[in-house]
Amino acid sequence: MPSIFTKIIKGEIPSYKIAEDEKHYAFLDINPAAKGHTLCIPKREVDYFFDLKPNELAELTKFSQKIARALDKSLEPIRTGVIVEGLEVPHAHIHLIPIYKETQAFSLGKKVEVTETGMGKLAEQIRQKVEL
Ligand code: AMP
Repeated sequence: MPSIFTKIIKGEIPSYKIAEDEKHYAFLDINPAAKGHTLCIPKREVDYFFDLKPNELAELTKFSQKIARALDKSLEPIRTGVIVEGLEVPHAHIHLIPIYKETQAFSLGKKVEVTETGMGKLAEQIRQKVEL
């Protein structure tokens, strides 16, 4: 059965899309740990991050770097942090989490509230700064 993220890539499930290229897709996490929390995924469905081929890991990292630059430019955090976990969704992904304060809890357990309208506006704001 395809993962929920594969369904998002195919447009079968809606997402707050940030960007995509031939091999990757980026979208807002619906339970954000911070404003702008974004997931970067390879279109090829692989469960465990470290089962990606070395070139796929490199390409996903390069794609994520471009998305992180867009987060930095649009939301101006101190910097953007990275988490790889994969315990909930069996489709490899990189969490990009903007860090706004040095004291900000940096974990996937803590979620912030963003309204649906807020998520849409945020996605638009970030999209404008993406340079692939
Ligand atoms: P993990 O697999 O533990 O690295 O986390 C998976 C992440 O995917 C969680 O932070 C979820 O909030 C997020 N997530 C799950 N379903 C969706 C969805 N339909 N759209 C956006 N994010 C999602």
